[in-house]
Amino acid sequence: MIRKQIAAANWKMNLSLSQAETLADELMKSEIKLDIHQQVILAVPFPYLTAIHQKVNHHNHFHVSAQNCAATKNGAFTGEVSAEMLRDIDIQYVIIGHSERRAYYHETSDILVEKINLALEYGLKPIFCCGEPLSIREEGTQNEFVAHQLKEGLFHLDAEQMKHFIIAYEPIWAIGTGKTASSDQAQEMHQYIRKVIADQYGHSIADTVSILYGGSVKANNAEDIFSKPDVDGGLVGGASLVASEFSTIINSLKSIIL
Ligand code: PEP
Repeated sequence: MIRKQIAAANWKMNLSLSQAETLADELMKSEIKLDIHQQVILAVPFPYLTAIHQKVNHHNHFHVSAQNCAATKNGAFTGEVSAEMLRDIDIQYVIIGHSERRAYYHETSDILVEKINLALEYGLKPIFCCGEPLSIREEGTQNEFVAHQLKEGLFHLDAEQMKHFIIAYEPIWAIGTGKTASSDQAQEMHQYIRKVIADQYGHSIADTVSILYGGSVKANNAEDIFSKPDVDGGLVGGASLVASEFSTIINSLKSIIL
């Protein structure tokens, strides 16, 4: 059984359309070698989803993701984008619960549960983000904090829905700060997350879940971080905006056959 190794780019609210298209073109042209169990997901701003999807669609290993979706199905929610709309334009993935959304848009676990349920209802694959702030890391209670986020956000799902799920562990103190968790810190938390999932769903399900690390992943540290057995790739912000950096990060995905 094979667990997917994933390099996911989070472009956030960056790039003009032409810059976004150039970046996608450069990535497609770069020397990227991917095995059957490795993939690239580009989480792009809503207005660029279709354009970037059309550019990368012919490449089996490249997929496009939204960075968010609405917590409600449809209706009078000005400015929102529904899971159904994303499905209608052939988008397969959606990031849910990024720390920036939790912090700046007050997305609570209850809201995230609604988003996850709608994403799954419309056939989207959620990339669920979790991770502790610095104060919690300093207190040493990061395991409890992250376990709580997982339980609140995901444990209403059944085993079939949990199979092949994607989780991104992103310690908030490492996002956009240039401070990366060490590869040992990442492995420790990823192993713990897999155990929390195994305790709830069993090992055979937990072993199918891809757990990505996020937080200042760069071309020069990706290989070390991704080499750890429970780190199945990364969710990458800043470094995903530079084609040469991100293609090196993609090429740092490890081969793993479980
Ligand atoms: C992110 O926002 O998901 C992220 C990990 O950002 P960065 O790589 O810039 O730290």
